[in-house]
Amino acid sequence: MMDNKTYMKISNLKTTSDGNNIKLSAIVDSEQLGNKELWFSIPKKYEQGLCKSRMDGFLVGMLFPAMRHGENIHVEGCISAQLLSNLNQYVIPMLMTFLPACKRIMITAVETSTERFDCSGVGTGFSGGVDSFCTFFDHYELENNTENRINSLIFLNVGSNGPGRTDEELMAAYNKFCSRYAYLRKFPEELGLDFIPLDSNLHSFHPWGHQLTHSLTTISAVLVMQNIYRKYFYASGGLSYLELYKFHDLLLKKDTALIDPMLLPLLSTESLAFVSDGTQFTRVEKILRIIDYEPVQRYLNVCVHDSESHENCSVCSKCCRTLMTLNSIGKLETFSQLFDIGKYKKRAEFLYLCQQVVLQNKDPFARNSIKLAKKNNVKLPSFVVSYLLVLLINFTRAWIPPTISSKIKSFLTT
Ligand SMILES: [Zn+2]
Repeated sequence: MMDNKTYMKISNLKTTSDGNNIKLSAIVDSEQLGNKELWFSIPKKYEQGLCKSRMDGFLVGMLFPAMRHGENIHVEGCISAQLLSNLNQYVIPMLMTFLPACKRIMITAVETSTERFDCSGVGTGFSGGVDSFCTFFDHYELENNTENRINSLIFLNVGSNGPGRTDEELMAAYNKFCSRYAYLRKFPEELGLDFIPLDSNLHSFHPWGHQLTHSLTTISAVLVMQNIYRKYFYASGGLSYLELYKFHDLLLKKDTALIDPMLLPLLSTESLAFVSDGTQFTRVEKILRIIDYEPVQRYLNVCVHDSESHENCSVCSKCCRTLMTLNSIGKLETFSQLFDIGKYKKRAEFLYLCQQVVLQNKDPFARNSIKLAKKNNVKLPSFVVSYLLVLLINFTRAWIPPTISSKIKSFLTT
């Protein structure tokens, strides 16, 4: 059905090698985006995992850009029959419902296949974060069934290390990917597990930001490794089933995490099953679950600070959220190797507590953090003090030059 819509062609699947790495690429030819190569690259020693016979990963990676531009997709290559059918019937209408400005499109492919690859990999991504550690702990340490036990880890560069809208951004994201990988690899090495670094330029096709389409970009890259994985646990973004339902307006049009439990099974193929894991817990429940797992105390990495370093900054929103929970259960000092506790106490804690007090009825993360603090008799600022301080900080941020407002902020919070 190539109607009067413009369309996107994905073709020329090929592998090239530079000696150390092997690259699988295809040409994306679109009236809106021009003619551009989309590629995925891994170290040569993992080459047997690359799916060279189907273009499933390329199709899922380009699905959202094509829908944003209203372009039908035609794949000049082979696609999983199950995936193609599910995309056209269910996924496209689902994305139109939950993500902004998505247009209805139709996907066609020259060839479909129901082949099941001969592989035994059970995988998940490892980032050192709470969600990733919780999925790993449950399906590696606690898992007795070998059918479900994780036996391979992967680390992707498809957006989580920074945006890729320009060559400079792509290079900065690549550098962060390398620095985080070099740090995190020690943990899989200890356990004797593969930790596959997969680089890509997929994020250059997703200028809307990682959060909006992270499920699609991640699944895209994992499908490229379909010759190794038969099951893949995708760690949820930190909200429980009930919280996804109750606070759906927080994520609607902003984050595919809202629809992961519905979306992921539909991105599975005859050969690889995706499982949305972790939604059975709240974030606080996850932290309590993994807190005594010793590697967490050496590798926990939650920071979202915008720098090239992989280290926890101890003052960004995610560092603060984690440290508030650790403080509530009396475990701050256990993590003093990974966080600068003094910096958190001096520069961030009071204002962060005030923000959580103010947000507790609107934000599920704040609500759970406050509930845990109260349960453990942690002293919290009153609502009136919190409200006034947050108001004042917001006012200085909006109306006073940043250099002066940050001085006022540090005066008010120390
Ligand atoms: Zn941080």
